Formats: sequence, structure tokens, C-alpha cells
Amino acid sequence: MPPIPGSGLAKGLAVTLRTMTKKTVTEQYPDVQPELPPRTRGVIGLFEENCTVCMLCARECPDWCIYIDSHKETVPAAAPGGRERSRNVLDRFAIDFSLCMYCGICIEVCPFDALFWSPEFEYAETDIRELTHERDKLRDWMWTVPAPPALDPAAEEPKEIAAARKAAEKLAAQQQLEAKEQREAQEQNDAQQQPDAQQSDAQQEGQE
Ligand code: SF4
Ligand code: SF4
Repeated sequence: MPPIPGSGLAKGLAVTLRTMTKKTVTEQYPDVQPELPPRTRGVIGLFEENCTVCMLCARECPDWCIYIDSHKETVPAAAPGGRERSRNVLDRFAIDFSLCMYCGICIEVCPFDALFWSPEFEYAETDIRELTHERDKLRDWMWTVPAPPALDPAAEEPKEIAAARKAAEKLAAQQQLEAKEQREAQEQNDAQQQPDAQQSDAQQEGQE
């Protein structure tokens, strides 16, 4: 059947009328900040303390835009007769956001929870070299990472938190013990010094 003349125009006008009556979805950025979902992929933050320099993120990054330098340090044996250990020390950690495609693979593969998404996105630069964020800048992004959702009250305590709590309790107990030993040593010292002082007073009185 041949098309009715003017039907295309009528359809177009119908779409225009429908759209005109709908609520506008245009964001008035930058005058109004957009409301972003909590899991927005804006920028990557580095929690350096958790990084063991395993290089997994740099190896898996499809864009090769993570740059890591490190050196090895020898850690003395924890107990007498034990063996010395060597550990990696981070010298440089940088991400080139001019190459990054925000796939999130680095964050997924990090076995030590050292990388996180932050929803911050306002870091455009006029010089492309400034888009390589070094470790200090990556650390600063950490403070913009939203807190994880609350755990189910019936859930088991996560093993990382349990391990951290035990380590903190052990350290606190050790510190208390040391403080107690110091107090006792001080008291003994004071008790020894008192008779000596009394003796010297008595000697002085005898001479007089
Ligand atoms: S988000 Fe993807 S592209 Fe960007 S640094 Fe991580 S792995 Fe590389
Ligand atoms: S994968 Fe994680 S722990 Fe390993 S080097 Fe990358 S950030 Fe550090």
C-alpha cells in the first residue's frame, strides 16, 4: 500500500509532542553536580599499605597503563635462629588515565584489596602528561572512595577484620605488659633508693 501523503510528518510531530511533554533528563552540569550511583567508575584510588608489589594489576591491565617500580629489602629474622626474609618495597605506582579504559580489571585481580573505584571524575587536564597520577595522587583518591555497604548482621566476621582485630588485641596486650614491667621496675628502683637516702641522712646526723 502506498504511504499516505503527510503521514511521515504527522509521525514526526507526534514524537515531538510526546517528547515535549516528558520530564527533561538533561543534567545542568557543571552548575548542578550529577547524582552518580555509588559504584561509578570515576578514578582509581590506591591503598598503598595493602600493596605487596605482586605486579598482578600491571600484568593484567589490557592497556599497560600501570607503572610500578620496586626494590627488595631484607627483613631480619623474627626470632633468634630464624631465617631472614626479603620483601618488596614500593618505589613508584602510577596509572596513566589518558590510556586507561576503566575496565576495572586491575581492581578485580588485586588479591590484597589495594585498588578501589572512586566516583570522582573531575580531573580533566589541559596537559596530557598530568593524567598520569602518581602514588600520592592515587592515595588522595582513596579518601573519596565510598564506604562499602554494611554487612549482614548475621554474617560471619570477615577474615581480614578478624585477623586485624587479633593483631590489635595482641599488640595492646604486649604494650600493657611492657608498661606493667616498666612500672614494676620503677617501683623497685624507688624502693631501693629510699633506704639508701635514709642511711645517708642518718650518717649526716651522726657526724653533726
Ligand atoms: S581500569 Fe583497566 S585499563 Fe584502567 S588501569 Fe585498570 S586494568 Fe588498566
Ligand atoms: S595487584 Fe594489588 S597488591 Fe599487586 S601490585 Fe597491584 S595493587 Fe599492588
